[in-house]
Amino acid sequence: MTVHLAPALRVLREEINTRWPHRDHASDGWIGDADHQARRSDHNPDSDDDSVNAIDVDVDGIDPLLVVRHCVAHPSTQYVIYNRVIWSRTRRFAAARYTGTNPHNKHLHVSVSHERRLEDSKQSWGIATSPATRLGDRVLRPQARGGDVRELQTLANCLGARLVVDGVFGPKTTAWVRSFQKRETLAVDGIVGPATLAALRAATTPPKPQPGRAPGCRTVRRGSTGEDVAFVKRFIGARWCGSPGPDFDERTEAGVRWYQRMRGIADDGTVGRITWAQMGVKVTY
Ligand SMILES: [Zn+2]
Repeated sequence: MTVHLAPALRVLREEINTRWPHRDHASDGWIGDADHQARRSDHNPDSDDDSVNAIDVDVDGIDPLLVVRHCVAHPSTQYVIYNRVIWSRTRRFAAARYTGTNPHNKHLHVSVSHERRLEDSKQSWGIATSPATRLGDRVLRPQARGGDVRELQTLANCLGARLVVDGVFGPKTTAWVRSFQKRETLAVDGIVGPATLAALRAATTPPKPQPGRAPGCRTVRRGSTGEDVAFVKRFIGARWCGSPGPDFDERTEAGVRWYQRMRGIADDGTVGRITWAQMGVKVTY
């Protein structure tokens, strides 16, 4: 068999992507890098079936504690780590301090059982259908808190806001919303209602494919410029690729290399067919 993510974790990843379509993928990953390969890790393929039984999910733009709650209720989960806390089946998922070197504050880690029946389980994690509020379910005002505020902050960061994604609609988030409303010639009230949300979504959605120019239509590398480059930078995120924009510079190349290593593909810093496909973009050349 070829190296693959355990089916139970594929289901989990899909549900998280459905629930938070605007989430940041920068700290996502599943296959171990050289550092993981040097030790025992669920990020390394199993010797019997080549499955990888662990996934890392970027916490920006999602509600990490909601994910933790659903994971500890799923029969396949072995343990979850987030923000220096570990919930492990061997301790009946009681929260315990995690003392490993990585604090897991940028991503949360989920490991599933190596028992074939459990790693192959297609049972839902209940995340895509969770009734918790998501962006657009309510009008967001200054002082609001929650996973939907995290989504708002992540969208803002796609537009270069550099907010801390903490789920609290504080003064910096308010100031950014007001500046965005001004830029979009909306009523400047710092409140995210339907009109502001629609403008936010429009500003962060990649444009409709245009022949020869859309993401996935050509290979882009250092020196390339255009909307497809801007898409790559938005996708990988400002944390790794620097400020948004249409130019593929040195920083973009470093971000692409980082992303390629996280995905376990050749880290040549060039976005060609394989890297486009990894980003979920249909390759049309
Ligand atoms: Zn991990």
